[in-house]
Amino acid sequence: MNMSNSLVWFRRDLRAFDHAALHRALTSSKRVYCVFVYDSEILDELPRDDRRVRFIHASLASLDAELRRLGGYLIVRQGRPLEVIPALAAELQVDAVHVCADYEPDAVERDARMKAALEAEGRQFLSFKDQVIFEKEEVLTLAKGPFSVFTPYKNAWLKRLAAMPETLASYPVDAYAHAFAPPTLPPALPSLEDIGFEPGEPPLPAGMEGAEELFERFVAHMADYGRARDFPSEDGTSRLSTHLRFGTTSIRHLVRTAQQMALSGAGGTGASVWLSELIWRDFYSMILARNPQIVTRSFKPAFDVLAWETGEEADAMFAAWCEGRTGYPLVDAAMAQLNQSGFMHNRLRMVTASFLTKDLGIDWRRGERYFALKLNDYDLASNNGGWQWAASTGCDAQPWFRIFNPVSQSTRFDAQGDFIREWVPALARLGAKEIHAPWLVAGEVLAEKGVVLGRDYPLPIVEHDVARKRTLERFAVVKKAA
Ligand code: FAD
Repeated sequence: MNMSNSLVWFRRDLRAFDHAALHRALTSSKRVYCVFVYDSEILDELPRDDRRVRFIHASLASLDAELRRLGGYLIVRQGRPLEVIPALAAELQVDAVHVCADYEPDAVERDARMKAALEAEGRQFLSFKDQVIFEKEEVLTLAKGPFSVFTPYKNAWLKRLAAMPETLASYPVDAYAHAFAPPTLPPALPSLEDIGFEPGEPPLPAGMEGAEELFERFVAHMADYGRARDFPSEDGTSRLSTHLRFGTTSIRHLVRTAQQMALSGAGGTGASVWLSELIWRDFYSMILARNPQIVTRSFKPAFDVLAWETGEEADAMFAAWCEGRTGYPLVDAAMAQLNQSGFMHNRLRMVTASFLTKDLGIDWRRGERYFALKLNDYDLASNNGGWQWAASTGCDAQPWFRIFNPVSQSTRFDAQGDFIREWVPALARLGAKEIHAPWLVAGEVLAEKGVVLGRDYPLPIVEHDVARKRTLERFAVVKKAA
């Protein structure tokens, strides 16, 4: 015990179990306070019905309830963290502020300023690894350099974990709960209206219970993940990305379970495939942490010379893509899923990102920003990684000459058209043979099923074969560098 009072500042770690910063604070202090700050500068930029804010709001209620069960409580404030946290630290007379590390460039800069502000007042700012298994300097090549290709990174990651199994050990909270500062008032978290937002339900079950409910459901069919994960009309993936983004579940808990299921055979081949996806998340986090310039630039600098389409026509194409009016049913269904639910299946993220960059020739940064606005699970590292993969500008990206055909992706991954029918009601009566490329179907056949192209559903805004040729020409400038 070397501190009397500590403050744990929750950010993207909204849980009260297996929590690195909370564990460290509880085991080193006499009294531990907990706070979450709604960052007013971020809130100001969001629509008033933002689904992520609803998710955070519901998750804070769950966090506060759990902290109260353990004898503590959550303080919730709104404002600029750089003002709120030092003021609260002074008010509570804490010796240290504990946080879980955040690797996004803006967060790194904010935390550096926070550290300086707190230290100027004689307080410590202590940051702990929590949201990844291995952070940026931990998995290196034999020459002690960074990886930029996934498979060798994954092999080194697995090797390191095998050598250091204690990395997955939980950071217990319950056993040290006596150190929580007891609540002085009954629960009174601000409502959505109090923070300037419209009331509404979160887009998926929120909080720690929501995460566990999803995980238990997924564990029951994890064995089939390797097959099912590619088909958007199947419930084949975990849907845990939003929980991972906001830390309502613990990455160590998920990796431990996947690893045990892989080793015991209970997870079939699915468990190790799923573990690989969690390693992709660490990979992109490491890539962003080491290369903050990729927020606005290509990971491979040679690709920064690409001349993307601009001007009025490109703007109109971009709007059609955003609104799901491209005339390519799978792309439009995917954009409808994103716009209406805030989620998009991984296969479709690849298809729509490829369509924007390779069929429409529009800069990946515009698509990346649109996803950032809409995705419930928006995470800068994974989103940037996914976009630069699809645009071929990233590390270990799709080769630039490999261009998804939006129709064959559709016949392959939504063969019966079930996903399209769910999200594009105008095409609901079309059969499996007609639904993937309605412009190839005779007008009378479509009319019988209530579809007139150009009226009920758009004609394709580009011809894929023509667009493909244009993209190969566009990328020819980087041919040598690639
Ligand atoms: P599951 O298939 O159950 O996978 C489990 C977890 O592994 C996910 O929750 C996620 O944390 C991680 N994961 C899976 N695939 C990837 C991947 N390719 N890269 C990094 N992590 C992965 N993921 C985000 O979390 N936030 C984003 O903003 C995001 N943007 C993307 C943009 C594009 C263009 C692409 C191609 C992918 C993006 N992804 C993003 C990765 C992936 O699509 C989602 O993580 C996944 O669809 C979430 O669904 P799930 O939780 O059911 O995933």
